[in-house]
Amino acid sequence: MAKKLGHSIIDIRPSLVSLKVKEKDLNICKELQGLSLKNVSIKLLENNKKIYDDFGEMLFTHFGVSGPIILSGSAHLRDRNIKDVKIIIDFKPALSEQKLDDRILRDFEGEKNKDFKNSLNELLPQKLIPVIIYLSKIDPNKKVNEITREERIRLVKLLKNFELDIDDFGDIEEAIITAGGINIKEINPKTMESKLVKGLYFAGEIIDVDGYTGGFNLQIAYSTGYTAGLN
Ligand SMILES: Cc1cc2nc3c(=O)[nH]c(=O)nc-3n(C[C@H](O)[C@H](O)[C@H](O)COP(=O)(O)OP(=O)(O)OC[C@H]3O[C@@H](n4cnc5c(N)ncnc54)[C@H](O)[C@@H]3O)c2cc1C
Repeated sequence: MAKKLGHSIIDIRPSLVSLKVKEKDLNICKELQGLSLKNVSIKLLENNKKIYDDFGEMLFTHFGVSGPIILSGSAHLRDRNIKDVKIIIDFKPALSEQKLDDRILRDFEGEKNKDFKNSLNELLPQKLIPVIIYLSKIDPNKKVNEITREERIRLVKLLKNFELDIDDFGDIEEAIITAGGINIKEINPKTMESKLVKGLYFAGEIIDVDGYTGGFNLQIAYSTGYTAGLN
């Protein structure tokens, strides 16, 4: 309707949205679907350059990743080539690599004759264990006292730098907000009236204004709605 009345529309894109993951040999997200993680940290890298990091909660879906820290991170990916973006998840951000290695070594020493596949129950959520075992390339049936230092280091690096390649944003229908919309240059910010059509007022999501998580988007809706209403 706004376009028909002569307004220009800034490209509409999803923001604060889940991310789709490029799957490789193992369909990681399908395997981990439904797994919700607390106290993890993530880094978003574009061509290996850090663009965002965060700490908190995230979850795996059948097509990728979602949850608070992913949604927040997604707002930093607009206008970037999303196919060049990687997420690095640190499943144990409270432990340095050395401390995590010490911890794993202690677990292994406690039960020397355990198979590797049964040795991670204390360290990781159940759903994550088969995926980590597969990606660690350590024989699942190996006794833990036969695991070499190199294999252990590989496991530690995997847990601290779990890498996923991003394929795309999640669907706009599922996004918390829409980036883009009616060009703000064509709206009088004091009244919210269109500069092109007298008596036409805009408010909220429809305008090319959006914010970060934390109530900013509701604030935009309320403030612009209030202003438009008064005028
Ligand atoms: C799951 C979810 C969680 C969110 N959480 C937060 C949060 O925690 N904090 C925050 O700040 N923001 C949050 N948001 C964003 C926030 O809800 C929106 O930015 C805000 O509601 C936008 O308000 P609005 O009035 O502009 O648009 P909307 O709330 O989308 O209202 C538009 C209304 O217009 C109606 N409509 C559409 N077309 C027509 C038509 N042709 N005729 C008549 N009616 C029509 C729609 O049915 C709708 O009721 C969240 C959004 C989602 C989806």
